[in-house]
Amino acid sequence: MEVACPHCGKKVQWNERQRWRPFCSERCRLIDLGQWANEEHRIPGDDAQAEDDTLPAGYPDAS
Ligand SMILES: [Zn+2]
Repeated sequence: MEVACPHCGKKVQWNERQRWRPFCSERCRLIDLGQWANEEHRIPGDDAQAEDDTLPAGYPDAS
């Protein structure tokens, strides 16, 4: 199955490998969603902040 990218009209295969479907690319998707001006787009749910594991300075030494 083929669909036309809503933004540029390019033919896109509709399958699981086309992660940006129905758009041909992430770029077209972002442009179409009006987010391209802000390049710092985020993937929802990808905001897991890596905690800093290092012990605070002055942590009591067990030895
Ligand atoms: Zn496109």
